[in-house]
Amino acid sequence: MASVATLGSHCALQVLKGAKDEGLKTLLVCEKKRERLYKRFDFIDELILVDAFEEVLDKKCTTILEKNNSVLIPHGTLIAQMTTKQIESIKIPVFGNKWILRWESDRKLKEQLMIESKLNVPKSIPHHKKINRLTIAKRHGAAGGKGYFLTTSEKDYIKKRNILVKQGLIKGDSDLYLQEYVIGVLAYLQFFYSPLTGNLEFFGVDKRHESDIEGLARIPAPQQMGMDYISSFNVIGNSPMVLRESLLDEVYQMGERFVSASKRLVKPGMNGPFCIEGVYDQDGKFWSFEFSARIVAGTNIYMDGSPYSTLIHDVPMSMGRRIAKEIKTAAKSKKLEKITT
Ligand code: AMP
Repeated sequence: MASVATLGSHCALQVLKGAKDEGLKTLLVCEKKRERLYKRFDFIDELILVDAFEEVLDKKCTTILEKNNSVLIPHGTLIAQMTTKQIESIKIPVFGNKWILRWESDRKLKEQLMIESKLNVPKSIPHHKKINRLTIAKRHGAAGGKGYFLTTSEKDYIKKRNILVKQGLIKGDSDLYLQEYVIGVLAYLQFFYSPLTGNLEFFGVDKRHESDIEGLARIPAPQQMGMDYISSFNVIGNSPMVLRESLLDEVYQMGERFVSASKRLVKPGMNGPFCIEGVYDQDGKFWSFEFSARIVAGTNIYMDGSPYSTLIHDVPMSMGRRIAKEIKTAAKSKKLEKITT
């Protein structure tokens, strides 16, 4: 039987607990400095201690994982700490589609896939000279919202860009992606697509608590005046959310369009967990500014299942457990290659 492995961070606890609930062996590639934390949990069968996560590419790690028939579950830490090339060179089976992770990391490819999925994407602004409305400047890659800023004019943009350059966070304009800022209610829509059944499951919604933009909203405007501020959007935590039921049909349609566009653009398509991230505006229209092509940390709030997974599954089903269930089903019918890359 297959086993489940992941890197020790992000949503590792959820993923490995879910795997154990499905009766699978669990392995954690764990930085030595985090051994103390992860040793606390009995559902982790084996720790593979490393100095850095990159060692998952090394022979020693690969051999252990191969011996255990491990499937590696990619998450945000893998994307943040390894290059796309490194991820694509992983030898053991990666759950879902490792090729689509390149599309997640590259803003241009990301936009292309979202537009192909007929999602409403906020307009990107090709050059800072064109800034004439509230605009968000975002760094490329998995910067986690740190060093992003809001601006309304070229002059203000240049001032803030220079602060980031001075701080060593960016080298210049090409490190920033400019996009129209959409005002509304942020929502992060979590899905699971099974290539074994051809079914899309809407799993849950979360809200992200981002520092320090969230705190800034509590400061009255007069006190904010003159705060020459780089407002970070660094995720600190997540909390649950449910949507008006009348919004759900469109949620499913967005997910299905995303699955079908990714089948066309990046084979074998968007298999497994993914998340479409955006804002509901005043008309209830959803604007997607981002997607994650793998499990998101926002699923950690639903370790016992979510209000939506409960509608589909008879047992409490976390996203981690859903992944393990898929691996079990595929392994039993010798179809692991259908759900991994
Ligand atoms: P991202 O790196 O694209 O996930 O953006 C990080 C955070 O910035 C999001 O979670 C939102 O809070 C905010 N954000 C990004 N793009 C937009 C946008 N176009 N309109 C409003 N908020 C945005």
